[in-house]
Amino acid sequence: MKIKLFDTLTNSKRDFVPLKDNEVDIYYCGPTVYNYPHIGNMRSVVVFDVLTRFLQTLNFKVRCVRNYTDIDDKIINKALQENKTEKEISEFYIDSYAKTCDDLNVLKMYETPKVSNYMDKIINFIDVLLEKKAAYKAGDDVFFSTSSVSDYGCLSKMKIDVLEHGSRIQKNSNKKNETDFVLWKKTDDNGIKFDAKFGKGRPGWHTECVVMVNSVFNKPLIDIHGGGFDLKFPHHENEIAQSMAIHNTKLANYWMHVGFVNVDNEKMSKSLNNDLKAKDIIEQYGGNALRMFFISTHYRSPINFTSDIILDCKQKIEKYIEALQKLKNRFYLNFETIIDKTDLDILNKFFESLADDLNISNALVYVEQLTKLINQSFRFSKVDVDKESTYYNTLYKMLDTLGFKIELKSLKEEDRQLFIEYNQAKANKNFELSDKLRETLQKKGAI
Ligand SMILES: [Zn+2]
Repeated sequence: MKIKLFDTLTNSKRDFVPLKDNEVDIYYCGPTVYNYPHIGNMRSVVVFDVLTRFLQTLNFKVRCVRNYTDIDDKIINKALQENKTEKEISEFYIDSYAKTCDDLNVLKMYETPKVSNYMDKIINFIDVLLEKKAAYKAGDDVFFSTSSVSDYGCLSKMKIDVLEHGSRIQKNSNKKNETDFVLWKKTDDNGIKFDAKFGKGRPGWHTECVVMVNSVFNKPLIDIHGGGFDLKFPHHENEIAQSMAIHNTKLANYWMHVGFVNVDNEKMSKSLNNDLKAKDIIEQYGGNALRMFFISTHYRSPINFTSDIILDCKQKIEKYIEALQKLKNRFYLNFETIIDKTDLDILNKFFESLADDLNISNALVYVEQLTKLINQSFRFSKVDVDKESTYYNTLYKMLDTLGFKIELKSLKEEDRQLFIEYNQAKANKNFELSDKLRETLQKKGAI
């Protein structure tokens, strides 16, 4: 199956060819751990989880890595505010982030590197950049020299002169160029500091990710680097610049960016008090509903969160899982066993949609179709073992590939007895009894 992915670097949908046959290395930027993640943070996590699951289904060996930035001014400030150590803050939010990932049924990462464990490597990396004259000392800080690489701006497609005069870039008198960014910052505050020959301080955010990509995968170029759309510039642009300066690679062959999440058509922000925490939404609507919300719109498009939309997502996924549950019950109640058969034709169409730059909304059309077929089959009293097993396994495979948590209950012998009595009452035209028994069975969710 030919997979196509949209690569932001070339601004085109390209055939996906892994560096090594059947192996795919993915890195996407993780959180700075000083707060609970909002729903915008978790969208990328779910998108790359679906990509991982899909590639695994196609028998690729996937190594998916996401980092934790556990050294940061924001963590230091939070620790001061709450009278705790930085480690207490970062560990607390790492745990809560991991819990949110679990609640969203995200696969275990190949590795989740923490910046604090890579400090020696980060310092070495900056040293090499200095040796190569891609970095310079200015005052007590070390900066990356963006003019040392020929195609700075290649990812964000912004012209250097625009970048240099862009209002987003903080003016810093020590910098040679406005686009130059800090690799190492000397600090006098009470926060954690590290010894380096260029001074006691802390690394810049853009360096951490490059170093962790290189170290965890032990190579200068991986298959896919991803993150939220907002990371394209300056974060990812600056990661590429450093990788070009040291390894002459663009760090990844494909750069994938995930769209924003808006809330009630407004950009999420703390000041508008609409930065909805993922844990609260999961508590209210469930992890499956939030996953459905993230994936039902194409990953590159912005999505809008409203209570109506999330409710609709919740109802949809519950409908699909209920179809599976009822079909499983139907087999049990009728003393039948689900056999190992899938509809390869419909499954292929489903996978082809995913192969088209993760066109999940198109893939969901097949989920909907199959759910309809399952519900139609309930009209017949006799189980068509062949056909209905195929429906069951195919729908199961699809929902599983999309990463939904499917927890199906098993009926008990007493439910089966009730079902027999219900059928007998119907056969005897004892409608009062059969109605009563049907109601009981429905209440139990058995039919
Ligand atoms: Zn990053």
